[in-house]
Amino acid sequence: MLLRLFQVQNRRASDGMKLLIKELKEELALLDQHILLDFEALVAPNPMDYRGLKETAKLSVLIDGEPTEIIVGFPDTFPHALPSFFYKEGFFGSFPHLEEDGLICFTRNESLILDSRYPASILINCLEKVIDLMEKGLYGENKEDYLLEFEAYWRNGAEMKIYSCIDTQNQTVRHLDLWLKEIGGNYSIFASEENENLSFAIENIFQTDRTGSVNCRCIYFPLEKNTFFMPPIKDTEWSHATIKQNIMGNLSSENQKVFRSLVQKKSKKFNTKFDFVIIGLPTSNGNVVLFSYAFYDNEFSIKGSAKKIPFHPFILRCKNLKKIKATISRWHPSHMLNRTGGNTTLMNKHVLIVGAGSIGSEIAVRFAKAGVEKISLVDHDIMELENVHRHALGSNRVFQLSEGRGLLHQFKVHALAEEIQQKYPFTTVKEYAKNFSDCLKEELFDWSKVDLVVVSIGMPNQEMQINRHMLRLQDSPPVLYTWVEPLGIGGHVLVTANQVKQGCYQCLFKPEEDDPIYNRSAFAEPFQEFSKAVTGCGSVFTPYNFLDSERTAILTAATGIKVLTQEIIDNPLLSWKGDGQTFLSQGFHSTSRYALTEEELHASRLMYKDLECPVCSF
Ligand SMILES: [Zn+2]
Repeated sequence: MLLRLFQVQNRRASDGMKLLIKELKEELALLDQHILLDFEALVAPNPMDYRGLKETAKLSVLIDGEPTEIIVGFPDTFPHALPSFFYKEGFFGSFPHLEEDGLICFTRNESLILDSRYPASILINCLEKVIDLMEKGLYGENKEDYLLEFEAYWRNGAEMKIYSCIDTQNQTVRHLDLWLKEIGGNYSIFASEENENLSFAIENIFQTDRTGSVNCRCIYFPLEKNTFFMPPIKDTEWSHATIKQNIMGNLSSENQKVFRSLVQKKSKKFNTKFDFVIIGLPTSNGNVVLFSYAFYDNEFSIKGSAKKIPFHPFILRCKNLKKIKATISRWHPSHMLNRTGGNTTLMNKHVLIVGAGSIGSEIAVRFAKAGVEKISLVDHDIMELENVHRHALGSNRVFQLSEGRGLLHQFKVHALAEEIQQKYPFTTVKEYAKNFSDCLKEELFDWSKVDLVVVSIGMPNQEMQINRHMLRLQDSPPVLYTWVEPLGIGGHVLVTANQVKQGCYQCLFKPEEDDPIYNRSAFAEPFQEFSKAVTGCGSVFTPYNFLDSERTAILTAATGIKVLTQEIIDNPLLSWKGDGQTFLSQGFHSTSRYALTEEELHASRLMYKDLECPVCSF
């Protein structure tokens, strides 16, 4: 019964194929194309040979003038999804982007838009790419692609994976720390640069530590630029001579010396059973391919003694020597950043954030996400449950249990530091559960080691004080002030002390005759009452929601990054403008600045400067 069902399904598939081919041929007849000579359905194909695709056909195409056979496989969703192409053995041998099972990787189809009205055109367009790839392979034009795809080839037949934190910028042959750790009955292998304190990162990324692990010798070989050798293709394996030639033969003479001195040093800290080598192979696009071998059983008996001496397999090779291919999974912070469009120039920056409330917490998380090396947090507030829906931290960060003191509220800086370090363990966070003016009095900061200060406390008088203090410093880093306006009307960030002195927080409060001063950048008219009290004076809050604070935080983080990378010079006032619906519908009044368009706001970003400002103009 089952067998019959299978046959029926199979027949349906092949009937479907015939129909599809008929339709395609009809459309092809209308096309002006000369690359597809003919095609016919495969007779009783095994879908396992074609990545599970049931509808397959044999295509006859011209490649470099030679009739060549390619198999096309159509997914059930064709023409809404791309067909796959296979090349199984033959005249061409191997070429880049040809996978082990004959699949040709001719496109990264993530962003391709298919016009499903014309299936034959889709087929022809794909075929053109496939043929181009094969002809380039034939002429050796895309040889470099073998290096770019090297790690994919290397994965074939690899039996180990090493989680590695390697600084591929460092061009010297050196030892790496390598350890095997049993986790849940399996061994996981980790490697990192020596003498770096990564235990925190390891605990947070891999949820494990190094207790009980076994250390093995591991040497990193950064090969010279313009090195080229083929990856092992299909089921071929490199002989020991090839391995040695490919690695030692592509080391600089300086590195060969370093290698010899490394292996001469006796060390007892290693388990001698295994010897790991990790190879860094530079590619033309500035990346470094990483691959690895683990060698074992390379010990020599001493005559008349039970003792055995281990040798590095590149120095002396025992006839019992065995090897295992290993792939590398990277966890170096610059790799993690690079792969996500991050900016590695931020990796040595120190950002100090004053205020860990709704905006400050979001800013801090974003700078960590941007990959800055160090964040200092200043805030003397504790976390409350009612903060949660307008804060980067959730309800799990409100309380902590204290031996002897019971349930305690956490300081915002402490909870935020923990949150950031767990998520982004390569960023160090220093916390100051203090008032910022006390920090200033106590001179807690070495300003030459701070690259940016962000003030997000939402208290104008304190901010004016901070502004006066910072501008009096000889070596003040750039200081950003940020605040949000009520009811979604907008938010602002002001850059100060950014290579230009003039233009500061005090300028925003330029007095006009005898009127009371107010923040002249505001979108809401001054002297309106916005704050609300839920349960009395102690619980007054300004009505803005998490979207307003996050939007302000994004503007501030984006501005801060541009200041750090010197894309912004001078001290602009930057604002985002909300639609004001809620604000206006509640009868509040906006300012003439709110009436400006985004372009006008941008054009007037330096016009707030007060040439008679008592702080920045003297
Ligand atoms: Zn000023």
